Amino acid sequence: MNDVVLTGDRPTGPLHLGHYFGSLANRVELQGRYPMYVLVADYQVITDRDTPGEIRRNTTDLVLDYLAVGIDPARAVIFQHSAIPELNQLMLPFLSLVSVAELRRNPTVKDEIAHSSQRAVSGLMFTYPVHQAADILFCKGTLVPVGKDQLPHVEVTRLVARRFNERYGPVFPLPEAMMGEHPLLKGLDGGKMSKSRGNAIALSATEDETAALIRKARTDAERHITFDEERRPEVANLLTLAGLCLGRSPRELAEEIGDGGAATLKRVTTEAVNEFLRPIRKRRAELGEGDARRILAEGNERARERAVLTLEEVRQAMGF
Ligand code: ATP
Ligand code: MG
Repeated sequence: MNDVVLTGDRPTGPLHLGHYFGSLANRVELQGRYPMYVLVADYQVITDRDTPGEIRRNTTDLVLDYLAVGIDPARAVIFQHSAIPELNQLMLPFLSLVSVAELRRNPTVKDEIAHSSQRAVSGLMFTYPVHQAADILFCKGTLVPVGKDQLPHVEVTRLVARRFNERYGPVFPLPEAMMGEHPLLKGLDGGKMSKSRGNAIALSATEDETAALIRKARTDAERHITFDEERRPEVANLLTLAGLCLGRSPRELAEEIGDGGAATLKRVTTEAVNEFLRPIRKRRAELGEGDARRILAEGNERARERAVLTLEEVRQAMGF
């Protein structure tokens, strides 16, 4: 089969190390081997907040983060929801294929409602997994590099594709999620590292910002450093971060640090993260807003051509 890669992120703030090890590294690895679409999911910003906020700025920053980690616009179509009406229109037939009970059961949506800043839960919060089905299926995506929180959404997409094909004939492939080296990286507070939860190390953070964030991270009262995710989650989390950045096992790092205690652990982690981010920061500094805008305009045009074809096929299959 001819695989197509689709993945994306919400422009809600700078990308962080969780994105890198959950999804970005796989994207860089897959680009060039398959057609690849990378979505700036701008309409999905308003799932858990009232307004899109600094949407233009966050959008260009997100594209700059992509370029900085090595996503190559010559090999990946970088585009945004709000520029592709035909993609969004797929949501109508797709919504008819899932039940309200199925939407309510989604564990990631439940978690996001728990962390939402909104007083009332919007309809979009419950239906955005179906919007994601449109994101993936508009280009007949088959491989979806994502973090663990996205698995239920890829399931929704498979359900939508399967039911559409059953009702109207074979149009869509069933996509597979592809999880990264670390599909659920924790933030400095022990919860899922998230742009919107103030617990992340951004890929664009400076050396000093990175050092300050790690200095503030919680550890525990035991001096001797060991890797024990169950009993010592805070310490294990820092070891995991350092290990991922160094390409080494967190257990081995713990043995080396041993009696050095939390101070050594934090120093090692800070150095590892800063070393890892150095080339990413350097590339980012060479790019400007104009580059991001130009790349998005080109990507939007290409994605739209694809979406027009799929919507036409859907309408035909449905007999409109
Ligand atoms: P927000 O808090 O605004 O929802 P986010 O940090 O959750 O931001 P998203 O844009 O929602 O980021 O997610 C983009 C992609 O990054 C998804 O594939 C998601 O699974 C992955 N991802 C996000 N956070 C992590 C994490 N901590 N570990 C691994 N993957 C992650
Ligand atoms: Mg999220």
